[in-house]
Order: sequence, then C-alpha cells, then structure tokens
Amino acid sequence: MQTLGFDLSTDEIQLLKNTTVQLAGYQHESVVDGPGVRTVVFFQGCDFHCKGCHNKTTHDKKAGKTVTALEVYQEIYESKLASGVTFSGGEPFLQEQALCVLAKVCKAKGRHITIYTGHEVDELLAVTEQKKKIRQEILMYADLVITGRFVVELKTVEKPFVGSSNQELYELAINNPWKDIL
Ligand code: SF4
Repeated sequence: MQTLGFDLSTDEIQLLKNTTVQLAGYQHESVVDGPGVRTVVFFQGCDFHCKGCHNKTTHDKKAGKTVTALEVYQEIYESKLASGVTFSGGEPFLQEQALCVLAKVCKAKGRHITIYTGHEVDELLAVTEQKKKIRQEILMYADLVITGRFVVELKTVEKPFVGSSNQELYELAINNPWKDIL
C-alpha cells in the first residue's frame, strides 16, 4: 500500500493520476455549499449561461487549468476540518469521467458528496448510453444533488444551499428522483 499521506491504494493513485480535470478553482472550508464544513471543487466549463450567474469565469471550457484528479484529491484532503466535498462549477457533469473518479475515491474515504448541476432531474440522464452509464455511477456515490439553472428573478437566501427558489435539493438516501433507473 502506497499512501502519499492520503491513505490511497496504488490502484486509486493510478486512477487519480490518469484522470485529468479542467479546473476553475477551490473554496476551502465552505459552510454554504452543502451540510457541514466542506471543500468545494469548481469544475471549468458550463453551457447554460444563466442570466446573473455568479461564476461567469467558469463558462469557457478552455479556461481554468488542467490538473490531475490526484492533485484535486490532495487539495480536498488538505483540510482537516472539512467532512464533505462539493463538486460545483461550471457544470460538473460536463466532465463525467473526472467527476466519477473523484466522487468514487472521496466516497470510499468517507467524505459526504454534494454535487451541483444546472440540469433538471429529467435532463441529467437524457444523454447517450455511454454518458448515462457514467452519470448513473456518479449518482450512486452522491449524497446530495442540487439541480436546476439559476434564475435571477427567483433569487433567494431563504432556501438552504441554492441560489434561486426553482433549484431543488435531493438527499438521495431519502428522496432519490432517479431511484427507478439507477
Ligand atoms: S448552471 Fe451554474 S455555472 Fe452554469 S451558468 Fe448557470 S449558474 Fe452559472
């Protein structure tokens, strides 16, 4: 067992090393992007272009920087306070492969997994069979998924963890809208 100080198996290290992420950045020790204290990983790239988006610099798929999933994992585990990781963006599901690898390894290490997506529930799996399979796997690792585009006219501070009231929170152990197809 090789650990790199992060308790990873050799297979996990290889998997993370062989996966690239187009990354916008991180937020450490956030308390507003899911329950408890979390590390937020912002994926680069989003096609939704919601009016009033607060993360416009994440839209361009070629911007940001290219890193390995191992570097992202190490950044996540820098924090001793965080018990969860949030994958946001940008649109994390534009990079299914990287999202899947990171969610899988972080889940195996006991982190609570929250994922933000601009997709609605019925859009998320309406993709090619290959993408659908990866997205289904991602949802098996997720604890909380927040769906829907940001609508500036519906902006709210009253509903936890969302930007606008149309966005929905799904705690998958209790309320999984994809349960019949996973
Ligand atoms: S889905 Fe999120 S990142 Fe993308 S444009 Fe909308 S608010 Fe911005």
